[in-house]
Amino acid sequence: MRIGIGYDSHRFVEGRPLILGGISIPYGKGLFGHSDGDCLCHAIIDSLLGAAGMPNIGQLFPDTEPQWKDAKSTELLKKVVEEITLKGYTILWIDSVIIAEEPRLNSFIPAMKERLKEAGIPPDRINIKPKTNEGMGFTGRKEGIAVIAISLLKKNF
Ligand code: MG
Repeated sequence: MRIGIGYDSHRFVEGRPLILGGISIPYGKGLFGHSDGDCLCHAIIDSLLGAAGMPNIGQLFPDTEPQWKDAKSTELLKKVVEEITLKGYTILWIDSVIIAEEPRLNSFIPAMKERLKEAGIPPDRINIKPKTNEGMGFTGRKEGIAVIAISLLKKNF
């Protein structure tokens, strides 16, 4: 078995939709990024790549490449899940923490899991846990959102 950790953060800007776990969340601000800024998907991707011993998301999908501009992160996640599956890995479990002072995200978790299922992650093998940062730091000041994810993979061959 192999374990991997992923971390990502993006800052809020006006005039962009807030996308997390492939779901558009009503908030009034969105996350800045070359792609859609979906830091939940990005952290999960890096945890999967970490467990598989592969290069990180920035090396696989460089933000200097126009190809990935405004890319849907669920599509990037799908590519990574396909890639690690080809290398013989099965996802046993993913745990994640979304650190966001606002908005409240609990009611969106089931929809995120359904969307991530389309990227190849079984809903019964992922946990998504939103929490605030008690007003401390950049997440506490509502400047952005951070995500930590851990993946456990089984090597089949
Ligand atoms: Mg990112």
